[in-house]
Amino acid sequence: MFFLCVLWLLFAAKQCYSQVVVVETSDISYQIAGIFEKQAVTQRLAFNESMRQNQLSAPDVSANDENEKRIKNWRLDPVILQPSRSDSYSVWRHLCSVKSMQPIAIFGPQNPIFDGAIRDQCAIANIPHIQATWQPTEPDIEEETPDVNKDEINTEQTPVYKNISINFYPPADDISFAYAMLLEYYRWDNFAVLYEDDYGLTRIQKILAEYSNKYPITVRRLNPNTDNFKIFKELSEFKEYRVVLDCHVDHLVKYLTEARSVNMVNHYQHYVLTSMDASMVAKDLTQFQSNITWLSITDFETLQDAQHFLAPRVGKWTSETTQLDSPPVSDIETEALLMNDIASHVLKALQKVGDIKDITKPDEELCKNREPWSVGALLQNEILKMQSTGVTGNIEFNEFGHRVNYTLYVNEIHLSKNPAIIGTWRSDTRGEIVVDRPSSELLNQQQTSKHFIIISRKAKPYFYDKTKCPEGDETCVEEDADPKYEGFSVDLVKHIFDTLRKHNFNYTYSFFHDKDKSYGKYDPEMKKWDGLIGDLLDKKADLAVCDLTITQERKEVVDFSVPFMSLGISILYTKERKIPPAMFSFLNPYTFDVWMYTATAYCLVSIVLFVCSRISPADWENPQPCDKEPEELENIWNFKNCAWLTMGSIMTQGCDILPKAIGSRWVCAMWWFFAVIVCQTYIAQLSASMTTAMESDPIDSVENLAKQQKVLYGALRGGSTLDFFKGSKDKTFRRMYENMIANPVVLVTSNDEGERRVDKGDGKYAFFMESCTIEYKLKRNCNLKKVGGELDSKDYGIAMPANSPFRTHINQAILELKELTILDKIKRKWWEDKYGANQCEGTTDENDVEGDLEMDNLMGAFLVLILGLVVSLFITAAEFFNEVRNIVVREQVSHKEVFIKELKASLNFFQLQKPVLRNPSRAPSVTSTESAKKNTKRAANIENFIEFEKEVQ
Ligand code: ASP
Repeated sequence: MFFLCVLWLLFAAKQCYSQVVVVETSDISYQIAGIFEKQAVTQRLAFNESMRQNQLSAPDVSANDENEKRIKNWRLDPVILQPSRSDSYSVWRHLCSVKSMQPIAIFGPQNPIFDGAIRDQCAIANIPHIQATWQPTEPDIEEETPDVNKDEINTEQTPVYKNISINFYPPADDISFAYAMLLEYYRWDNFAVLYEDDYGLTRIQKILAEYSNKYPITVRRLNPNTDNFKIFKELSEFKEYRVVLDCHVDHLVKYLTEARSVNMVNHYQHYVLTSMDASMVAKDLTQFQSNITWLSITDFETLQDAQHFLAPRVGKWTSETTQLDSPPVSDIETEALLMNDIASHVLKALQKVGDIKDITKPDEELCKNREPWSVGALLQNEILKMQSTGVTGNIEFNEFGHRVNYTLYVNEIHLSKNPAIIGTWRSDTRGEIVVDRPSSELLNQQQTSKHFIIISRKAKPYFYDKTKCPEGDETCVEEDADPKYEGFSVDLVKHIFDTLRKHNFNYTYSFFHDKDKSYGKYDPEMKKWDGLIGDLLDKKADLAVCDLTITQERKEVVDFSVPFMSLGISILYTKERKIPPAMFSFLNPYTFDVWMYTATAYCLVSIVLFVCSRISPADWENPQPCDKEPEELENIWNFKNCAWLTMGSIMTQGCDILPKAIGSRWVCAMWWFFAVIVCQTYIAQLSASMTTAMESDPIDSVENLAKQQKVLYGALRGGSTLDFFKGSKDKTFRRMYENMIANPVVLVTSNDEGERRVDKGDGKYAFFMESCTIEYKLKRNCNLKKVGGELDSKDYGIAMPANSPFRTHINQAILELKELTILDKIKRKWWEDKYGANQCEGTTDENDVEGDLEMDNLMGAFLVLILGLVVSLFITAAEFFNEVRNIVVREQVSHKEVFIKELKASLNFFQLQKPVLRNPSRAPSVTSTESAKKNTKRAANIENFIEFEKEVQ
């Protein structure tokens, strides 16, 4: 049993023994040289530290013993060179002077001026040259393909050394292009550029070459050693809101502080920093409460993480002495962070080379032999081919040693918020900035607090002094939106800020009103904007809220919110007043000439009828129808009757007697035809002229207004309405503008003054006003009317300094108010409910009234009637006295007796008969005389007729 156990143990031990693999670790260390100038402390420390810290453990593929595993520990051994003089050859001499120098790669120096010489020396020795700095592309390098003898390139096994630097920093061209894309994204048109050295100018030139050169750009050089207030003041005077600032990260805070002291750093300014290291001072930048953007190759948010793998190390990078409190990785400049990426990337490449062939170290006497290093080309090739990931993302190179396929981050500080990455730019696509703002950017954002100064302009119903309720009047409800002012704008602002507060914005506001402020016009002589727009440009206020029209010219210097009201220009004019009709307005339908011709025609026709009826036998009638053979014929158509008939016809009344002869009937027919036409046209004209008897020719369109001279027209001085005429391409409007300018008294300083002038102007003045204000005025002043349609269409908006970061918030709030129909309600309140609205309801435009004639219109007709009656009384009296005289003569009685008797008989209204007055003593003689007269007359007629018969035979 014991024996069996021993056997089993021996067997198990053998088994175990055969499983044991001996792991042997061997350190393989290669020198890497770093050339640093004196001041590049962080880079030097970072280089030293990173090279030491990074190591790559990889199995040794050459080991063939199964039970013996060899792990090679690839390490880099940094050698720091700090040349005393920084001319290129002294650097190389310095490198050569160091004994036992066997670097497999040389890094630096980071000064682009000397780096070319080192690269060339490296090329001679076939030692890869590495860089990690912004490098202005030299034309010879840019254009030339690397120094490669094409015949020698056959396979991957025998790579040829290229005279290039492998730069871990993104290529300068790419960076410039990415910045150009950034400006494109922000749509910067005019902006200022500040730089502090020649490299900065080179960077800026590249950016501008990529971006558009069609915009005016102010370029100034800053001096890091003195103050630059003058430059920033100048920018402030130029109203530059956007600045591209190229400076060393250490000077950023200095420059921004200087700019702030001249009000060039505030909510409305936007700075684009070309320094990719700006993340280092991000916290300081936040305090400027401005808008700042920069690109970086590192993800700022990740670097801030305390767990970042570099976090424990970077403390040693900042000072020679070990730091207890490590700064966050984000505080380290990119060039230093790149040292870590270089170390790990080179180690990987080195290890790959080691897999291929034995790495012989470069000759000890590097400078003496001048023999190229046999592994150099292979190592350079592997570094170029290798792909790795580091602090700066994906690391890959093209054949020129430039980085490719990396991403730049767009870091943005918006107001006092923390920096955020709002987008990226990818080098592989070389496209636009891909924006990926956090969705909470608009409303519901983080809390921001601000007190807004709001300027306005007094004009009803938008903004005016609050009407206090009389004491003791309990029915009166005072407006409570603002302690001093009321109106549409006041309510609008209140609702906007209520909405913003609902979305957690800690915004407050107060109104500020400056007397006699105009809306805002550019004065080309002074090169200045006046009015509300001028105040916004001078940053005296944050918002301008009133009936301020959005115009293209204003939009170029300030920002506008989305519109809150739409309108167009129209004409304010007085309603026409009716002329008190003339006494004889019934004569109006015809001119004097027509009346005269008609009267002449009347006389002529009466005469013609008289003549025709005298001549026509048919009009000679038997006076005694019972007497078949009358002795005489009678013609009733004396001139009196003829004139009566024609009069009756033209008066459309007709006449009891009518002619019988064809000729005289034809005369009548023609006259009736004429009478029909004359009467009908008279009636038509009369009704038209009576209902539209207006004071003056009505102005019913702008063309009508432009054509005439009697009515003056004007607009608001310095407003967008006048500008509309000024900038119009329409000839009529241009002419109207010139007329207004030629006679400046027609221009007014407020809409109220315009309204007053129209009202008092007795139709002699028309005023161009915006339609919504006209609408308001018409509801309160019933003498006014709007003439014609709208000449254009535009909007009112809230203005704010250009680049205002609050625009999005205000826009959102206005849109919300629109959707909830609150804007409509506010408008209805101030237009239709408040202060004397609707007082014109029920009053109609006299223009529209048709038909209703008043007494005045018919006064003349009444007068003619009365006069006619009076005349008829006189005629009747004359007839009466004539008859009295006849009786007196005939009967030989006294006048008095005849007059009294005749008058009594006439005025006895109940008697239809009256006695014929006779003088009893003279009655027969009168009768005999009468009959004798008759008989004599008849005999004479018969005689005449017999003579006529004889003549005919
Ligand atoms: N609302 C106009 C402006 O903003 C004033 C006007 O011209 O009627 O200029």
